[in-house]
Amino acid sequence: AKAPYDPANIFARIIRGELPNRTVLETEHSLAFHDINPLAPIHVLVIPKGNYVSWDDFTEKASEAEITDFVRAVGQVARMTGADAQGYRLLSNVGKRGGQEVPHLHVHVFGGQPLGPMLA
Ligand code: 5GP
Repeated sequence: AKAPYDPANIFARIIRGELPNRTVLETEHSLAFHDINPLAPIHVLVIPKGNYVSWDDFTEKASEAEITDFVRAVGQVARMTGADAQGYRLLSNVGKRGGQEVPHLHVHVFGGQPLGPMLA
């Protein structure tokens, strides 16, 4: 059985405004901000504002408006950061064995350099 959503996780606290962040884009249902420990010149995290841990969780429970908003936010961030013009990579770690450290669904946007086989 999967653990329930933990409202004390770091991204939940960022969404609630309890922790500062360097915001790139905020929409009705999504938030994008710079990773605190960037692994590339462009390293932005895009998250839905709702309480979702995984893609399964998100696509089962979120509204179509939330899903559309989130996917669109990823594309907008790629354009706004300049990543889209140069080529970039999306990565989403899910679960402990998938390398997910923060249990709130997120997509990493990496860019600004030639990208090797793996990041994060
Ligand atoms: P994961 O390993 O879960 O896919 O990635 C979590 C990411 O969140 C890591 O790249 C880590 O640097 C970033 N991160 C962890 N804590 C904070 C924080 O407080 N603020 C920001 N902006 N990023 C964080």
